[in-house]
Amino acid sequence: MNDRTSIPNERIVALDRAHVFHSWSAQGALAPLVISGGSGTRAWDDEGTTYLDFSSQLINLNIGHQHPAVIAAIAEQARQLTTVAPATANLARGEAAKRIVARAPAGFNRVFFTNGGADANENAIRMARLHTGRDTVLSTYRSYHGNTGAAIVATGDWRRMPNQYARGHVHFWGPYLYRSEFWATTPEQESERALRHLERTIQGEGPQTIAAILLETVPGTAGILPPPPGYLAGVRELCERYGIVLILDEVMAGFGRTGRWFAFDGYDVVPDLITFAKGVNSGYVPVGGVIISDEIAADFDETVFPGGLTYSGHPLAMASIIGALDAMEREGIVDNAARIGAEAIGPALESLAQKHPIVGEVRGEGVFWAIELVADRETREPLPAETMGRIKSELLARRLLAIVQDNRIHVVPPCVVTDDEVAEAVAIYDEVLALVG
Ligand code: PLP
Repeated sequence: MNDRTSIPNERIVALDRAHVFHSWSAQGALAPLVISGGSGTRAWDDEGTTYLDFSSQLINLNIGHQHPAVIAAIAEQARQLTTVAPATANLARGEAAKRIVARAPAGFNRVFFTNGGADANENAIRMARLHTGRDTVLSTYRSYHGNTGAAIVATGDWRRMPNQYARGHVHFWGPYLYRSEFWATTPEQESERALRHLERTIQGEGPQTIAAILLETVPGTAGILPPPPGYLAGVRELCERYGIVLILDEVMAGFGRTGRWFAFDGYDVVPDLITFAKGVNSGYVPVGGVIISDEIAADFDETVFPGGLTYSGHPLAMASIIGALDAMEREGIVDNAARIGAEAIGPALESLAQKHPIVGEVRGEGVFWAIELVADRETREPLPAETMGRIKSELLARRLLAIVQDNRIHVVPPCVVTDDEVAEAVAIYDEVLALVG
């Protein structure tokens, strides 16, 4: 596959097991898959096994593996300047920020760059708290916003004092009609009742204490849950009424995954702060950030912003953003995601639902879909974990990289996926669902 000396998988895994400590895992039982190369929607190891990547790695690879324009942009920047302090001005940083705000709504002109999605949310929360002078952050039970939290509170110097924020988090239930917490039977009911529940939560906590509502525009890890009509507009309205900052987390949903630059472009809502990571450069170099409304950015014209990172706006990450966004624009990659979702993935998953009684629901848009699997369509009891484990290994045995999450398969290929690749993957899902159904 390339001209580098090929190394047997066994050696790579042995080295990994000896020295690498993995995320979210009991280390003893791990047998990680070896990936050594890739192109577009395919990835492979050195022993000649090729996989169809319907995971986009960790749902970050929107532009596909090894896009030549992104690689060239990184290489060119590496030749010129590989690192620079965050306080400097650097052309790549400005160009990357300019391209990001060009895709944001009017009134967003500044970007604070972070190393990934979690610290983007940390900084958005920090901004919201400073903007409102309030503490509490509301977010939903069905959400994932990242895995940081304690470092600044452990810090000994002055930077700790304005940031002792590991407190004041309150959770509420967001909309999810298939498993409604509100006994709703229509999207309209779900929306209205979820909004009523949110307003009661705000009132119960005391509106004057709430700094922000932080929401994934389309909750991803929790099940790819597009919000029902009117929900996000209703949340915006509650934020207006109670003086609360609305932060939309677009880390997974943003930059093409829904078939739009931002997922919220499909809803009647404009947030105050937007967090992003993954799709902005497809993870070729770690990066994330906060897109800041002019009103909140103005708070820090005279007042020091008490936040910062050594690698904020790292030149290699910035070059990869420029390369990725320009190529996505030039090649119509976001439009491809929209089209393939509407014309190929959606209809194909619907026909799987017709055919297999274990499919409870399929939902999504663009290249952001879930197949929710149930033991019983009436009770909607989730398919048990051991069957889900079997599904995962059967998909992998057929060389499909899949995201299997709780009782769902998340169908999340790169935005560059082709009709033929969708047909190939759907045939594999079909075969495996028949096997376990
Ligand atoms: N927010 C959302 C919606 C995510 O899906 C994730 C990661 O999956 C994060 C934040 C955290 O991003 P990171 O892992 O880059 O810190």
